[in-house]
Amino acid sequence: MQAAAGSTVSRRLLGRLRDVMAAGGSAQERLDKVVKLIAADMVAEVCSCYVMRAGEVLELFATEGLLKTAVHETRLRVGEGLVGDIAAHARTLALSDAQSHPNFAYRPETGEEIFHSLIGVPIVRGGRVIGVLVVQNKSSRNYTEEEAETLETVAMVLAELVGAGELIGRDELASVDGNALLPVRLEGTKLTGGVGVGIAVMHEPQIVIERLVAEDPDHEKERLRDAMKAMRRKLDEMFEAQDLAMGGEHRDLLETYRMFAEDAGWMARISEAINSGLTAEAAVQKVHEDTRVRMAQVTDPYLRERLHDLEDIANRLLGHLVGKEGGSASRGDLPENTVLVCRTLGPTELLDYDRSHLRAIVMEEGSPTMHVAILARALDIPMIGRAQDALRRINNNDTVIVDADNAQIFVRPSDDILDAYAASQLIRAQKLAAYAAMRELPAVTRSGESVRLMINAGLLVDVTQLEVTGAAGIGLYRTEMPFMSQPRMPDVANQTVLYSNILDQAGDRPVVFRTLDVGSDKLLPYWHSDPEDNPALGWRSIRITLDRPAVLRHQLRALLRAGSGRDLHVMFPMVAEVAELDRLKSILALEQQHQANQGVAPPSSLKVGAMMEVPALAWQLPALLDRVDFLSIGSNDLAQFLFAVDRGNPRISDRYDVLSPAMLSFLRMMAQAADAKGVPLSVCGEMAGRPLDAMALLGVGLRALSMSGPQIGPVKAMVRSLSLPALETYMAGLYDLPSHSVREELRHFAIDHGVVI
Ligand code: PEP
Ligand code: MG
Repeated sequence: MQAAAGSTVSRRLLGRLRDVMAAGGSAQERLDKVVKLIAADMVAEVCSCYVMRAGEVLELFATEGLLKTAVHETRLRVGEGLVGDIAAHARTLALSDAQSHPNFAYRPETGEEIFHSLIGVPIVRGGRVIGVLVVQNKSSRNYTEEEAETLETVAMVLAELVGAGELIGRDELASVDGNALLPVRLEGTKLTGGVGVGIAVMHEPQIVIERLVAEDPDHEKERLRDAMKAMRRKLDEMFEAQDLAMGGEHRDLLETYRMFAEDAGWMARISEAINSGLTAEAAVQKVHEDTRVRMAQVTDPYLRERLHDLEDIANRLLGHLVGKEGGSASRGDLPENTVLVCRTLGPTELLDYDRSHLRAIVMEEGSPTMHVAILARALDIPMIGRAQDALRRINNNDTVIVDADNAQIFVRPSDDILDAYAASQLIRAQKLAAYAAMRELPAVTRSGESVRLMINAGLLVDVTQLEVTGAAGIGLYRTEMPFMSQPRMPDVANQTVLYSNILDQAGDRPVVFRTLDVGSDKLLPYWHSDPEDNPALGWRSIRITLDRPAVLRHQLRALLRAGSGRDLHVMFPMVAEVAELDRLKSILALEQQHQANQGVAPPSSLKVGAMMEVPALAWQLPALLDRVDFLSIGSNDLAQFLFAVDRGNPRISDRYDVLSPAMLSFLRMMAQAADAKGVPLSVCGEMAGRPLDAMALLGVGLRALSMSGPQIGPVKAMVRSLSLPALETYMAGLYDLPSHSVREELRHFAIDHGVVI
């Protein structure tokens, strides 16, 4: 009953607002009328509207109830006072005793000291806060949720008024940063490596909603249903098209989308907004802005990512409602060298853009496991996430350098910096050409030792790197990647198809399939486990699959089926003790038996390996080497556990160096032990792909390295320029040094001996 009453109130208010908006007059006059109307409707003594001006200042533009002399005089910085707080956090604030709030900032010129309660909502447009709408009452009262909703709906109408560029000019509106014309350097997190230089394009819904208020909710719901249908049709078309052009992961991502498009709770919220008097497009827009605001408050990474996905769908639906079905914005006349700037981006939104025009992407939010990051990696678009204030600091048409490798963004860079990057890009292009030319050349050192260079893969597109680089095989296939990009656990049949596909593509070259290595930072959308204090030391990888053997059995079954009649390599990650390996191998034996019972031919050869990631395992080397056909060192996790340093914590992840006497001694010991037993040993962590680190690995005795495809070229160049005996002699003097790192020593060796690093 109450909600219905609330809807009626806001419908009445919206009707009146529409009349005011349609009545003509200047924008300022209309705004003055609007605040008066809201105050009357909400039985409040005060209603004020603040508008964001250049330099992140909120200026009082209109008020009913505060002293009129304060209009255009009272200004608050973002973050200052309650109004500034609402803008800074882009969230609604309702307080029965505003003055006792720690952020309350008293402004004597307004005469507001007599008002006790306050409710304020951000005025948001295109993901940016462009103003704040505030209602105040003398009495100390609690505002209801309906009132908050009503105010948020009104704020949407005001967003159009402010955003139309009449109250303050469009230029000022665009340059919400006071230092707009100065060069700025922003930092973020690398989501996909590489460097991109181009012109900033704000990814924001550029749809102008002309009709906000509607008389007939039923008609609007009908329009919503039609748009929903059209959107689903379009998504289906996209599935088809993407399937032909790209690997299966894209299809999985889009499937997830279709699931969200049918989310009942979301549709219910849009219907509710229509009931309150909005048109279908305005209702979608409102839910869309609400989602953005809620997203800022959600800390659970999984939930945040799902909300991002929903937002993408909202944008798309909006496009269908106003007849721009390509997506939220017109993507037609995109500059040829576009750097896309956004708060966040959905995978289908990314696919809307012409890939050939995208040089880089900057997001204010984002994490490496987001679908869009997985997709950008597959499409090789440099991407930086968590770039704080990117939307405020970057304007449309700014020149931007996105140096994702170093997680930095130069906005409006000086000519010097631009020249430096242009030069480095040229060198990069030349190097790439040189690496491509090396494809056919063997990875053999100057002194004649042969080195096996292999690629790490996880997406289908990674597998194409085998051809591009001429690598010897896939040294690490991270099977969790396809698990992560699907809405539900792939079954045995799906997995079998996937693994067969990879084996087919690899042809004669071996593929080392690592069993599911989830947990820690690699979360599966459909597996919920309790949060842990130390997830990197927690329930992850084979600890999970040993506890849930059915998952492992299904995966092994699929691998054995895919490998029927072919060479199969299976590798177990995160093994901490030989007893675990024995358990894993006995599960594998069960599956081999199962396969035989089913009459399926076994693999022509089955090689079983383990990853050396947990140092304790190194103290069982003789027993371990007796049990495996090969070993691979996961140097990322190994370093994490050797130094007790969280690899995902930016504050300390660089504190220790893998090129330290301790780590190198450990690796040498491993290499010698494996060599003595004739067990093939490789390294598949990140260090294998960095030329200087890879040189050190050869120096300690490794002869097989696995890395991401683009790193093969630089590492091969290093291998072919190295004389190994000289390095071994040099390194003999390094292992016992009491140093933190011997990186500099190794660098000098490389420079002195002409090793290409
Ligand atoms: C490693 O730990 O070095 C490794 C290769 O595995 P991941 O990075 O997938 O944990
Ligand atoms: Mg690992």
